[in-house]
Formats: sequence, C-alpha cells, structure tokens
Amino acid sequence: MHDGPGVRTVVFFKGCPLKCLWCHNPETQKTNRQIMFIEKKCIKCGACVNICPNKAQTINPRNISRDLCISCAKCVEICQNEALSISGKEVSIEDIINDIKKDIPFYLNNGGVTISGGEPTLQKDALIEILKEAKQLGISTCIETCGVFNESLVDELLPLVDTYLIDVKDTDEDRLYKNTGASLSHLLKILHLLDDKKAKITLRCILIPEINLNEKHLIKLTKIYKSLNNVECIELLPYHPYGLSKSEQLGLKDSSIAYTKPEREEVLDFANKLKNNNVKVKCFGSEI
Ligand code: SF4
Ligand code: SF4
Repeated sequence: MHDGPGVRTVVFFKGCPLKCLWCHNPETQKTNRQIMFIEKKCIKCGACVNICPNKAQTINPRNISRDLCISCAKCVEICQNEALSISGKEVSIEDIINDIKKDIPFYLNNGGVTISGGEPTLQKDALIEILKEAKQLGISTCIETCGVFNESLVDELLPLVDTYLIDVKDTDEDRLYKNTGASLSHLLKILHLLDDKKAKITLRCILIPEINLNEKHLIKLTKIYKSLNNVECIELLPYHPYGLSKSEQLGLKDSSIAYTKPEREEVLDFANKLKNNNVKVKCFGSEI
C-alpha cells in the first residue's frame, strides 16, 4: 500500500551499493544469503554448533563467525527455538512472475508490482526481465531506487517502468557521501535524465533530526523539486529505528546508528513549509 500507486506486490532484491547508517532493511545490503540470530531466543542447547559443517558457531562464548558461515541453513532447520533464520533466497524469474500473477485480482487503484530492495538495478538483468514480463501481462510497474546506477540504464528502464520512487536521502553532497556512500551529483544527473524523458517520479526523502530535519535541507529539497518537471510529489519518510535490531541479528551492529525518531509535529511542520513553497507533499500516507 505504501510502495507506489494502489495495491501492489513488492519484490525485494538483495544487494545495495550503499551503506546508509540509518538503513531500514540492512538484510538487503549484501547480495548473498545471510544468517540472522536473535540472542534472547537462544537457550544454548548446542544443536546448531554440532550440525554446522564449517564450525562457524560456538556456545562459550556464544558466537557466529560470519566469515566461516556458508549460509547452508542447517542450523536454522535444527534450532527448536527459532533463534536462527536465513535472510534471502535464490528464486527463478518464473517463480517470481507466478507469484505476481496470483496477486493480479488484488491490484486495485492502478496497483501492480514494485521492485524494491536493496537496490533493484544491482541485479539489472533480472530486473529488466521481470519488468518486461509484467508489462506483457499488462501489470503496472514501479521501481524503488536510490538512483545509484549507470546512466546508460535509463533508456532501458523508460519503456518498462510506470512509476519511479527515487530516494533523495540528503541534499548536502559531503554529508550524503559520508553517511551513505552516495553521490548527490550523480543522483541529480539520473533524476534529470529521467525527468527530461517525462518519467513519473516521486522523490522519497527520509527525515532525521540529527541529519537533515532543518531549514537548509528544506530549501535545497525545494530547489531540486522545482528544477524537475515531472515530479509528482515529495514523500517524507520520518526516520524509524526499525533497522537496528535487524543489524544486530545480522552481526552488523557497528554499521548502523540509533538516531532520534522525529516527532509527528516536526515532520508536519517540515511538510507544511514545503507546501508553502508550492511543493506537493505526502507524509504519513496522505497528501498534505
Ligand atoms: S540451536 Fe538454537 S537455541 Fe540451540 S544453541 Fe543454537 S541458536 Fe541457540
Ligand atoms: S548457516 Fe550453515 S554454515 Fe552458517 S552457521 Fe548455520 S550451519 Fe553453519
């Protein structure tokens, strides 16, 4: 309901070129399957240690060596307490399309399929193939992207994508690069290439009090919005520390930071100021 128009099926691709310190889906950063561990559910029975073919787990101290783990999932199957799980699986395009087809009766209000991630363009061939199949089936298509992809891909995507949800995570070049690894100038180049070809774009903007919930960001966002002709709206996404526990389960605790969750009033105030600048704004699921 929140990833493009109408009711949609969302396919999450694993793998992302960025490493945002506030990442909401850290389990999609790496392309490979990953083991996740919830320490409070573990009763230290040792079953996972005994079955692991690569000696990746120890009980004393309780540890999983991510370098040794080959993600075979044997420990997941044997754990009676659901302390272990696997994130990600290899799926054929055919299976994905079959799943999408099953949802066709539910695609109300211009709904369809959204390819998200991670960064969907990282698995470019699979992305193109799914989009082509969806188009042939007459299903509306949408991609959710951080805009970090080669500009040569733009022409390939244009006939296949109906709606683009593009992240503008920050408008300060240095700060964006430091916190995510993304280049603002490259993102702007991609945005303008798509906009020049009349692509339908929504800009998705996370708001984090310690980073960008300020006047300077508001002015720069307004400027970006006004420099483009085909942006439907700016959608504000208040930061939520949802990704932190997942980072911990993946053994990636140090790659995320616990920021402050903005107050609803702060977000609405930011939204109203954008609106006063004649920017079309959406937040908390509806237009302001
Ligand atoms: S099998 Fe499960 S409960 Fe037993 S030690 Fe391993 S993770 Fe903990
Ligand atoms: S997924 Fe396989 S290799 Fe990794 S810890 Fe579990 S049993 Fe060992």
